[in-house]
Order: sequence, then C-alpha cells, then structure tokens
Amino acid sequence: MSLAAFPEAVHVRAPGKINVYLGVGARHDDGYHALATVFQAVSLYEDVIARADDDFSLSVSGVADPASVPLDDRNLAMRAAKLLATATGYTGGVHLEIRKSVPVAGGMGGGSADAAAALVACDALWGTGLSPHRMHELAARLGADVPFALHGGTAVGTGRGDQLNPALARGRFDWVLVTSDEGLSTPAIYSRLDVHRAESGALADDPPLSLDVPITVLQALRAGDPHSLAACMYNDLEVPALLERPTLDDIINEGLRAGALSGIVSGSGPTVAFLCETPEIAQLVQNELAVSGRTALHVHGPVPGARIISA
Ligand code: ATP
Repeated sequence: MSLAAFPEAVHVRAPGKINVYLGVGARHDDGYHALATVFQAVSLYEDVIARADDDFSLSVSGVADPASVPLDDRNLAMRAAKLLATATGYTGGVHLEIRKSVPVAGGMGGGSADAAAALVACDALWGTGLSPHRMHELAARLGADVPFALHGGTAVGTGRGDQLNPALARGRFDWVLVTSDEGLSTPAIYSRLDVHRAESGALADDPPLSLDVPITVLQALRAGDPHSLAACMYNDLEVPALLERPTLDDIINEGLRAGALSGIVSGSGPTVAFLCETPEIAQLVQNELAVSGRTALHVHGPVPGARIISA
C-alpha cells in the first residue's frame, strides 16, 4: 500500500467504564493488587482525533481544570502513541486532540479510554496494522484498565484487571452517574484500603481464597435483570473512598431516595453509579439529583470499546 492511502486524520471514540463488581486481593511485591472485577462500558465517551505530524503533541478539551491533565509523556494517550511507534518502528509522530467527557480521576478509566483510543487511531493513521492480540498486549503494558477500554462491552477482569473474559449481558442497563469536581487519586485509595485492612486484621490469606466474581453477578448480567444485579453490586474500594470523601455517602443516599435500585462508588471513585430499573426511572433520578445541585448524567451499558468514527 502506498503512503498516500493512509488518512490525514483518524477519529476514534472509546467509552468510560463502571466496575459493577470489584474485589481487591492483597498487594503484591510489584505494587499491584490482585483483582476480580466486572467492567461494563457505558455511553460516556472520550474522543481522540489523531493527525499526522512529524513530532508528538497533544491538546485536551472538555475539562474544567486544564492543569488536571498532563500534556507530556505522563499522559497515557501520549505514552500509547509512543509505545506503538517504538513497537512497530514507525519513525514519524502524531498530534492527538483529546475531547474529554469522562471525569478526570473519576474512577471511570478516562485516561485508559484515551490510551486505547490513541492506540487504535495511530494504528489506522500510520497503517501499522497491529493484530488484535498485539494491540491487547500493548494496551496491557500501558495500564490495567486499557485492555478493557479497547474491548468494551461487559467483561470479567482478573490478574491486575487486564486478563479479560467477555461476560454475557442481555439487554441494556440504565445508570445515573454523579460526578464530582475534584477527583480521587487511585493509588491513594488503594493505600487507604491496605491501611484499613492492616488495622482491622483482614486478609491473612494471600491471595485471598474468595477472590472470585460471585456467580450471582454473572447470572444477573446474563438475565439482563437490574433488580438481581442491584442486589449483588459490590466494590472493595468503596470503604476507602468513603473514608477519603465522606460526602459520597450523602450522594449514595440521595440517589436511593430518588428511586435508584442501588448505588455504588465506581472503581476508586469519586463517581457514584446508580443502577435504575428503566430508562424512564433513570431520567427521573437524574432530574432529581440535578435539581438538588448534583452533576448527574444518564448513561447506559454495555457499549462497544474503542472504535473508529471516521478516517
Ligand atoms: P484509573 O484508571 O486509575 O481508575 P481514573 O479513571 O480515576 O483512573 P483518569 O482520569 O484516568 O482517572 O486519570 C488519573 C490521573 O492520570 C489524572 O489525575 C491525570 O493526572 C493522569 N492522566 C494521564 N493521562 C490522562 C488522560 N489522558 N486523561 C486524564 N488524566 C490523565
């Protein structure tokens, strides 16, 4: 194929995620915790537009505080583009325009979605033609949540969360997300969990014998039954997130009073995800939370992972 066949710009969209279930095992020597999680990709998207360039550069829009997102090699999307170039021997560069909708440091994997989108966009822009297997491998090197942002849908994640197995999920689930202006640091929430467990004498086993996704969660997803799912949603990071940000408890109670079936801190927080029985009820819950001054969004899942919108 001649170089002229490659597009000048590629637009890729990748979703944020909710952890419907998140069990955290003990901390290993490499600093990572063993996880057993169920991700669901939801209809809140990051858009990444990659344009051919000689150097690597980045611009970001859609964030209240521009300083919250690094524009250099600390940015996960920039690291993704450079990793792909190194892995394939590509010698040019790219300008990445990131339009963010997923809250920064919100526990919804926004940076991971940007990285997955950047991998897919640069692969198409540069014509590097990575196999899905190789793409997954590079994604896992960038971060534990990046492979899921590539694949989307609903999936069980084990290991660091990067070993994925698709989970069957029937129909659609309606969620209301309440976001917070100020994010929470994922490493800080894991540290809080470790301290809390050490103090309460939990987790004598390493890894804990119970580090499995409960069958009830998988059955509820397979049945497409929000009532059953609401009864078994769980997040080990909720306690440390509430310790760090006690006001999240008020948000959870407000959403339940407004009619949600269940509310859970998403990942390391501070976003709270409310599962609702129907789209109509989700709309009511969203309205009520918005009236009381919350930033509330009605989304649904599962949705696909990173995909090309135009090239
Ligand atoms: P995690 O995947 O750890 O759960 P999160 O979803 O809570 O993270 P992100 O928005 O992905 O949070 O970003 C966490 C931190 O990573 C930010 O505070 C920011 O400093 C840094 N970061 C790096 N790349 C990005 C990016 N593309 N978008 C947003 N933040 C980024």
